[in-house]
Amino acid sequence: MGKRILVTGGAGFLGSHLCDRLIKEGNDVICLDNLYTGNKNNIRHLIGNDYFEFIRHDVTEPIHLEVDQIYNLACPASPVHYQYNPIKTTKTSVLGAMNMLGLAKRVHARILQASTSEVYGDPEIHPQPESYRGCVNTIGIRSCYDEGKRVAETLFFDYHRMHKVEIKVMRIFNTYGPNMHPADGRVVSNFIVQALKGEDITVYGDGSQTRSFCYVDDLIEGMVRLMNSRADFTGPVNIGNPGEFTIKQLAEIVIELTGSNSKIIYQPLPSDDPLQRKPVIEIAKKELDWEPTIALEEGLKWLPKKVLRKPLLTLRKLYEKRTVHLPYALPSAHCHGEGVAFRKGFRSDSLRCGLYRRRGNTKSQTIRHI
Ligand code: NAD
Ligand code: UDP
Repeated sequence: MGKRILVTGGAGFLGSHLCDRLIKEGNDVICLDNLYTGNKNNIRHLIGNDYFEFIRHDVTEPIHLEVDQIYNLACPASPVHYQYNPIKTTKTSVLGAMNMLGLAKRVHARILQASTSEVYGDPEIHPQPESYRGCVNTIGIRSCYDEGKRVAETLFFDYHRMHKVEIKVMRIFNTYGPNMHPADGRVVSNFIVQALKGEDITVYGDGSQTRSFCYVDDLIEGMVRLMNSRADFTGPVNIGNPGEFTIKQLAEIVIELTGSNSKIIYQPLPSDDPLQRKPVIEIAKKELDWEPTIALEEGLKWLPKKVLRKPLLTLRKLYEKRTVHLPYALPSAHCHGEGVAFRKGFRSDSLRCGLYRRRGNTKSQTIRHI
């Protein structure tokens, strides 16, 4: 029999894939999202389905619902978005975790936290096993996200110890796939958009920093397996693809796969940008019988065709209409150029539905990102 399942952040990149998967399996799904970085287009096809409900709500506020399972994904994940309003990011992670754990406790629901490899910070141990406690700056521009997620993990384990809440903590490594916002500033979407537009590919630093990229289908499989794992298995568990690439290699692969004429250019490395990242996935293999099945080159071959579910040519045309390039680096740290317009001109509550509305002291103009 299907379960009643709450997915917070369900209109975002990972959340929308999870909603699809849970609906397909015959569950009753409530998608809760404030549409800060999420997009109704990601879940539009589910609206009208008797087993799907969308609630526009902010996880920093309590809510009463009757559910059997909670996937807590609500939180902006791209550095551009989580650094845009860092105080809100910490509130979302910490108050969001408290509210969802309170709900889980009240209705005896099992709850999964979408934690992150960022809890390892700029790791001194490579690759990173779950036992590694991390090297995190408490006062840097990434801290709102990293420390918010670390406190959320602490809350999960304290609710488990004090109130016997059934918890699952999943440390997600960089994931890519359809439904990523093409303008969200993450490296895979940035490079693909730049390659399709024939623009320079912006590698930050010398491109020697590494990341391990997991295709979204693999990730969602790991997430669902973790939620349904034996009751006394809490994690934390790393879910990611151990294939490790430098950012320069990623740029070269994207250029080759898209047949683009783009050139690689080098820009300053943002502060606290981790130099290396690769998961140890032995626990996932043993406890969940999970490992990734899709290699980076394979996933990247599909992506330009699947992004927004539009054929490549249409996509290219749409990208050509894009008028503003969202900067990766944040204006608080880099106080010049486009970043300032982004900071002053965009209100956080208008980061929604693919429409970024420019207000305030800049020209009143609607900028349509696809
Ligand atoms: P996303 O930005 O696409 O999705 C996040 C969703 O949460 C959006 O729909 C957004 O509108 C919603 N949201 C944000 N703040 C909210 C709030 N206060 N109340 C209600 N909804 C809110 O990001 P994603 O890539 O889908 O990430 C989902 C989760 O997975 C996040 O918690 C993120 O930290 C975690 N994660 C993702 C990755 C990755 O590579 N994608 C890596 C590590 C961890
Ligand atoms: N990066 C880059 N060019 C871009 C966007 C990102 O070189 O246009 C780099 C970034 O500095 C980081 C890596 O790519 O080293 C991954 O960045 P992303 O924002 O995707 O995720 P995270 O840093 O959180 O892993």
